[in-house]
Amino acid sequence: MDKIIYIILTCCTLGIGQAQEFEKDVFNAGEKELAITFVGHGSLIFEYNNKFIHIDPSSREADYAYLPKADLILVTHHHGDHCDPSAISAVSTDKTILMTTQLAKEKLGFGQILVNGDQATFDEINIEAVPAYNLVHKRDNGQFFHPKGTCNSYVVTIGDKRIFIGGDTENTPEMKALKNIDIAFLPMNLPYTMTPEMVADAAKAFKPRILYPYHYGKTDTSIIVDLMKGTEVVETRIRNMP
Ligand code: ZN
Ligand code: ZN
Repeated sequence: MDKIIYIILTCCTLGIGQAQEFEKDVFNAGEKELAITFVGHGSLIFEYNNKFIHIDPSSREADYAYLPKADLILVTHHHGDHCDPSAISAVSTDKTILMTTQLAKEKLGFGQILVNGDQATFDEINIEAVPAYNLVHKRDNGQFFHPKGTCNSYVVTIGDKRIFIGGDTENTPEMKALKNIDIAFLPMNLPYTMTPEMVADAAKAFKPRILYPYHYGKTDTSIIVDLMKGTEVVETRIRNMP
């Protein structure tokens, strides 16, 4: 924990022609630095060893034409706020690798499928697909927004850091059983994902060293901060990720 360096670069002018400002945290990930850029909602960028990994790039959150090209894209599932063909096209080159679910691949027409439980590697980075699904919240027709087996969360190991990227999920037993997570992103909006209480339940179970609630929409983020008070091993950080 003491090794983690915490810096916010408040003004990142990325690319030519358009300045977009995002928060960024930088971590010591062993021999090299890991930078995480908070694009918005479920969209993130990891930068490590001169490689860029985009998580769920979405045109609703940024103009991806002006963001760094992706070496790897991870898409958690097929819904429009996570799987956006135009943003994916804007950050892709002919060398970009995309890993995703069966349903998202059907929507995009390309990509390497990772089913729940699969592992993959890219460069020195390890990716593990963890089930993402609802336990409670359903559509009016009685079906879950995210039925089990159709959507992924990912545990991404970069350097000496293990990062959990919660797809659209609730506080599932698989998530609560995670071990040795340094950084966790947990979705916190209704009706699709978790209440602050569900986020707190999960975070208190698997104890990430740093918790970033994200994909939170209009949810009051002060609720999760209050719920995590007294859980000293988990540092809750709020970034601009509505
Ligand atoms: Zn979804
Ligand atoms: Zn979503």
